[in-house]
Amino acid sequence: MAFSANRSNVSGGSPRSATVRLERASSLTSNTSPTHPRSKAIPSATSPGRRPSRNGRDDSGVSGRVRVAVRLRPRNSEELKSDDVADYIELMPELKRLKLRKNNWDFETFQFDEILNETASQKRVYEVVAKPVVESVLEGYNGTVMAYGQTGTGKTFTLGKLGEDDAADRGIMVRAMEDILANASAEQDSVSVSYLQLYLETVQDLLAPEKDNLTISEDPRTGDVSLPGATCVEVRHPKSFLELLEAGEANRIAANTKMNTESSRSHALLLVNVKKSVKAKQEKESTASNENGSSLQLSKSHSLMTIRKSKLLIVDLAGSERVDKSGSEGHLLEEAKFINLSLTALGKCINALAENSPHVPIRDSKLTRLLRDSFGGTARTSLVITIGPSSQHRAETMSTILFGQRAMKVENMVKLREEFDYKSLCRKLEADLDRLIAENERQNKLVLDTEEQLQKRAEEAELTIQQAERKAKVLLEESHAKKLKLQKENLDSIRRLQQECSLLEKELKENAVKLQSEKEAAVVEKEMQIQNERAKKQQEKEEYIEEYQHKLEELNKKFEAERAERESIERRLQEIEDCMEGQNKLELDDQENLNELAKKMEEESHSRERATRELGEWKLQGAFIASNEEIEEQCKQKEVLEKEVKDLKQQMLQLSYDTDETRKVLEKGPTRVSLGAESPMSLSKAHHMRETVNGQRATIAKLFEQVGLHKILSLLESEDVDVRVHAVKVVANLAAEESNQEKIVESGGIVSLLRLLDSSQDDIIRRVAAGAIANLAMTETNQELIMAQNGTRLLVRTANETDDPQTLRMVAGAIANLCGNEKLQARLREDGGIIALLGMARSRHPDVLAQIARGIANFAKCESRAARGQKREKSLLIEDGALPWIVENATNEISAVRRHIELALCHLAQHGEILCYVIGECGGLDCSWGLMGTCSHIEGVFA
Ligand code: ADP
Ligand code: MG
Repeated sequence: MAFSANRSNVSGGSPRSATVRLERASSLTSNTSPTHPRSKAIPSATSPGRRPSRNGRDDSGVSGRVRVAVRLRPRNSEELKSDDVADYIELMPELKRLKLRKNNWDFETFQFDEILNETASQKRVYEVVAKPVVESVLEGYNGTVMAYGQTGTGKTFTLGKLGEDDAADRGIMVRAMEDILANASAEQDSVSVSYLQLYLETVQDLLAPEKDNLTISEDPRTGDVSLPGATCVEVRHPKSFLELLEAGEANRIAANTKMNTESSRSHALLLVNVKKSVKAKQEKESTASNENGSSLQLSKSHSLMTIRKSKLLIVDLAGSERVDKSGSEGHLLEEAKFINLSLTALGKCINALAENSPHVPIRDSKLTRLLRDSFGGTARTSLVITIGPSSQHRAETMSTILFGQRAMKVENMVKLREEFDYKSLCRKLEADLDRLIAENERQNKLVLDTEEQLQKRAEEAELTIQQAERKAKVLLEESHAKKLKLQKENLDSIRRLQQECSLLEKELKENAVKLQSEKEAAVVEKEMQIQNERAKKQQEKEEYIEEYQHKLEELNKKFEAERAERESIERRLQEIEDCMEGQNKLELDDQENLNELAKKMEEESHSRERATRELGEWKLQGAFIASNEEIEEQCKQKEVLEKEVKDLKQQMLQLSYDTDETRKVLEKGPTRVSLGAESPMSLSKAHHMRETVNGQRATIAKLFEQVGLHKILSLLESEDVDVRVHAVKVVANLAAEESNQEKIVESGGIVSLLRLLDSSQDDIIRRVAAGAIANLAMTETNQELIMAQNGTRLLVRTANETDDPQTLRMVAGAIANLCGNEKLQARLREDGGIIALLGMARSRHPDVLAQIARGIANFAKCESRAARGQKREKSLLIEDGALPWIVENATNEISAVRRHIELALCHLAQHGEILCYVIGECGGLDCSWGLMGTCSHIEGVFA
C-alpha cells in the first residue's frame, strides 16, 4: 500500500552556527513509533525503509508514512429533516475500510488507517489521530496534525473545538496542549505557541492582529521553515492556552469581517514549539559531531544536557470544495485563484510525493512551504479527512477520500531534533580548563621542587655511600683478624676439653668400684641390726607373758573372794525371801524388806560390776597371750555364778510380780470403797481385801492339793474369762516355785499356757501367762518344749501386740531365758526372738530394759560358748542389729541393764564387727561407760 518516495530536502552549505544539529536516528526499527510504543499511528510495517536524502547525505531518519483517518460527521438537523438516506457511503471501522457507491450496483472500497464513524467521541478521535503525534513531539520529533475536508464536515469541530460548555467536546488542539503541558517540566522545559491564519497567501498573526503579513524564512542549511515575526507566547497552563485560543479565534473573526471573508476560506495554523532538556546518555567519551564532521571530545565529568526542540503543527485547512462550486460570493477571479492556491499546491505536492516524482512543488504556495516538514519531511504527520453524510456532497466526499488515499502514500523520514546545550557545556569546559591550568602549574612547581630535592638527596647519598665503604673496609679487616684469633682459641680449648674428659672418665670408673664395696658393707650391717631387734622383741614378749600370768593368778584370787561374797549375798537373799513371806502379814514390812533387798541387790550388783569390769579388762589383756582354755574355764566359773544370780533374780521377779498384784488389789480397794462414801463398811472391806491377798498363796497351795493340777490347767480353757484369769494366776503362782514346775510341765502346763497366750486378748491373762512361761523357761528341757510348741513365735507376737510394760517385762523375761539355751539359738533367732526382744525396748520401763539386756547377755554368752574359744566372724545378735542398742544402753543409768550389757560386750568382743562398731561409735566420743577402758584392749585383740 505504501510507496517509497524520494523527497526533496533542501540543504545548503551554511556557516557553522552556535548550535550543532544532531539528527540521530530513532531507535525504532520494527516498532511503529520511533520512541513511543503507543504511536501505532505510523506503522513501519508499511514503511519501505530508509531512503537516501536528496542531497545524498545520510539523514539517519526512520521512515514513517503519513497516517490518514476518515471521520464521518453525524447528520445535522437539516439532513435529518431532508430524509436524505446516506446509503452512498458505508463505513467498516473494524476492517478500517470505507465503501463508496459508484452506481446502483458497484461500490469502491478504500483502506485507511482509521475509520471513525459518526458516533466516535472527541476523545477517541484525539487518541487515534493526534496522540501518537503529540507523544512523538514530546520525544523530540516534529509533528503535524491536519484536517482536510469539505466545509461543514467538522474540521474545526475536530481540531479547534474549545469545549467550554462540554468538556467532552474539547478538540485536538486543546487536548494536545493539555498533554504537552502535563509532560513538560515547568523549570527546565518551555512550551510556546503561535496562532496564524493563511488567507490569500498572506500569513496573519492571530495573536497580534496588527501583524497581518508575516514572512516565511527558511534556514538554507537545515531547510527549517520559520516565521520570525510571529508572536510566540509561552504557555504554562491549559487555561491560559484556552484564553489564547479564544483571543486568536476572536481576532480571526474580526480579521475575516474586515476582509469580508469566511473562516472556511482560510487556513488556521497552530504552531507549538516544545523545548525539552534531556540529560545526555553517559558515555565514556561522548562525541558530538558538528556539521564539518569534526568531533569534539567531551569530558566524562560533564553531565551534558541535550535540548530537544520540536514543533507541533495543527492545521485546520480551508474547505476543500471548489470555490466556484460553493458559489464564492463576489470574489475577483484573481482572489478566487489565490483562495485555492495553497490547497491546490498541497494536493500537487502530495501527488508528487505519492508518485515518487522527482520534483515536488513545495515553493508553489505558502502553505506547502510551511508544511514542507510535514509531507516528505522529518515530521510525524497525521491527517484526518472529514466527510459529510449527505449524498449531495458525494462528489466532494469522493475527492476528499482520494486526497486521503494519496496522502497515505507519502513517506516521511522521522528524525530526532536534538542539540547539545553548548553554552552551558562551554561554560563548564572553560571552568575545567582554568582549574586544569592551575593544577598543571601546581604540578609543575611540585615536579621542580621534587627534582631539586632528589638532586640534593642523591649528592648526600653519594657521600654516605663513600663513607660507608670506607668503614666497611676497616671493619672487614678487623673482623678477619678477629676470626683468625678466635679459630686459634677454639683449637686450644678443644684440646683442653679432651684432656679433661679423659681424666673424668678415669675418676668415674674408680668411683663406681668404691660405691659397690660400700653398698655390700651396708647390707651386711642392716641384716645384723634386724636380727638384734628381733631378739630384743622376743625377750620383751616373754617378759610380758610372765607378767600377765602373774596378774591372772591375782584375778583368780579375786574371783574366789567374790564367790565368797556371792554366797553371803545368797544367804541374805534367803533371808529376804523369808522376810517376803512375812510380808503377807504386813504391807509396811513388805515395803521395807523390798527396799532393803533392792539396796542389797544394788550393792551386790555394784561389786559384781566392778569384778566383771576387772575380769573384762584382764580377759582382754589376757586374750593377748592367755590360752583359750584358761578363758573358757573362767567363763564356766562365771556361768555357774551367773546361774545362781539368775535363780535369785527369778525369785525376785516373781516376788515383785506378786507385790505388784498385791499393790494393785490394795489400790483398787479404796476406790471401790469411796463409792460407798464414808460408810463404816469401807474400812472393814479394805481390811478384808488385804486379808484375801495375804492368804492367796496359802489358798493356792490348798487348791493345788485339793483340786489337783489337771483340773486347774483345764480351767485355763474355761469359757468364763474370770475363771481363766484366776486359773492362770494360780498356775503362775505354782510355777514360781521350782518344786512345782516339773509337775506343771508333766501335766501339759506349757502347752495349756501357750494356748492361753495364743487365744487370749486379755492383758492380765497374757501378762500372767507370760510370767508363768518365763518361770518355766528356766530349764533346758522346758526351753526345748516351749520352742517345740512354737512358744517363741507366740511370745514374739505378744511382744508386738502389747504395750503394757508388765506384760512386756514377762515376755522379755521368757525370751531372755530362752536366749540362754545354746542349742536353740538359731531357732530362736529364726522365730524373730532377738528382733522382738530389741523391739520391746520401745517401752522405756527399766524392768523391761533389764530383761532385754539379760537376754542379750545370755545370747552372747551362748554364742561365745558355741564358738569354743574360736574367733568368730559373725554374731547372730549383731546381724539382727543388737549392737547399736547395746552401745546406746551401755551407759544406761539402770545398773542391771549396764551390767548385762557389759557381759554381752565381753562375749561379743570375739567378733570382728563389734570392734569396728565400738571404734566408730565410741572412738572419739566421750564414753563414760566402764568398758571404755576395755575398748582399747578390744582393739588390741583384733589388731
Ligand atoms: P468545517 O470546519 O469543516 O467547515 P465545522 O467544524 O464548522 O465544519 O462543522 C460544521 C457544523 O457541524 C458545526 O455546527 C459543527 O458543530 C457540526 N459538527 C461537525 N462535526 C460534528 C460532529 N462530529 N458531531 C457533532 N457536530 C458536528
Ligand atoms: Mg472550519
